[in-house]
Amino acid sequence: MKQNQLFKQTRWQLVTWYTGILGLILALCGLGVYEAVAHAHRITIEQELQSVARTLHDSLETVLREPGKLEPEAIRLLPDACLTEGCLRNTDSHEIEAIAHNKYYLRLFQKSGNLVAVAGLQPEGLPRIRGERQLVTLADAQGTRYRQISLMLHTRDNRDWGYLQVGRNLQDFDRYVANVKWILLLGLPVVAVLVMAAGWGLAGRAMQPIYQSYRQMQQFTADAAHELRTPLAAMRATVESMLMLPRISEVDVRETLQVIDRQNQRLTHLVADLLILCRIDRQLNQNLDSFIEEEEIVLNDLVNDIGEELAVLALDSGIELSFEILVTQPLKVKGNTEQLYCLLFNLASNGIQYTPAGGKVTLILKEEKDRALIQVKDTGIGIPPEEQETIFDRFYRVDQARSRHRGGSGLGLAIARAIARAHHGSISVQSQVGQGSTFAIRLPKASSSG
Ligand code: ADP
Repeated sequence: MKQNQLFKQTRWQLVTWYTGILGLILALCGLGVYEAVAHAHRITIEQELQSVARTLHDSLETVLREPGKLEPEAIRLLPDACLTEGCLRNTDSHEIEAIAHNKYYLRLFQKSGNLVAVAGLQPEGLPRIRGERQLVTLADAQGTRYRQISLMLHTRDNRDWGYLQVGRNLQDFDRYVANVKWILLLGLPVVAVLVMAAGWGLAGRAMQPIYQSYRQMQQFTADAAHELRTPLAAMRATVESMLMLPRISEVDVRETLQVIDRQNQRLTHLVADLLILCRIDRQLNQNLDSFIEEEEIVLNDLVNDIGEELAVLALDSGIELSFEILVTQPLKVKGNTEQLYCLLFNLASNGIQYTPAGGKVTLILKEEKDRALIQVKDTGIGIPPEEQETIFDRFYRVDQARSRHRGGSGLGLAIARAIARAHHGSISVQSQVGQGSTFAIRLPKASSSG
């Protein structure tokens, strides 16, 4: 397959499509995973931010008395707060430990927007956003991102005090999400290469049977052309040699016509065999049953007919042709009479052809559970064990010269096997060189068979 340009090209095309489509699906899945991971992380951070801000807000509201003023109780709640007057070192505050963890900043504004105090991180160049319960994402001068929430603050007697802003550094989140993104981005080409390798292997496996049948077809065409060429060449040579003679006698003409007639018969026989094979092939490749003109065939009659048909040939060849019908009732199978006749004829005539004068050919009809068994037994030349499977191949002959000389096309057994298969049956051979051969055809019995 590797040498065949067409198959190689098709294999590459399959692999490219396969990798492309699977790569796209994987990329979409990767994007989905990325979004899901980032979303889950974002939600967690937001919940944490809201909980920190809400705790701080509730604690402050219990101690604030005057709008816009920070009383010492309130300052104590803020870790390391910086007021307008300066920064305080406040180690007492355990309220919001997270602020001490360098992740949060908080800012307190008067209602008018004046900054009263800051605590925790002190990002530079962070824009000021006013408003209540506003969740926004901001970036400082270095580009570090923060998620910020603003909450309105009230004094203990429910007067507006100002508002509180709590922000969380998103550096760890951004780093985590970037890592996930890189893993997915770098993983995708690796996966694509693996998919490509797997696709190459799978495409090769899937194309193997197609390639085999393509090879068989090529072989068949070459063999058929070769078989057709032989009689055509013989005819041409005969005609050319006749034309070269200065004078042609009636005897020469007669001889030439006889040669042409013989070769013509060979060609006709070969073409007829090829047509039968093509028809059965088509039948086998499509819906079997719909193609076979189904009828009930009584095998007892079929065997008798073959016997009658081949009696003269057997007599001429000095062969004793006999039958053994070992069934008491008519044995019926379903199928095509013409095809089954052709199958038995091929086997029986082969038996006669490949048995020396004085030998025997016997047609035996038996029954086996739900199958009919027809055996064609001869006492002929036999078939070597290593050839017993290949003789069913198209144009295969054990002895090329001998078979051709007898007018054999090398298609008889290939046709027999195709017919047996088209009838859901099988064909097999047992043979010993010099002793003889037994061909056995097994066909499913018709349900009405006795
Ligand atoms: P052919 O037209 O050559 O007989 P077949 O397909 O019928 O073609 O048979 C293939 C080959 O199998 C024959 O060439 C022959 O060598 C061998 N063969 C078939 N039947 C017999 C048999 N009964 N005894 C010995 N050899 C056989």
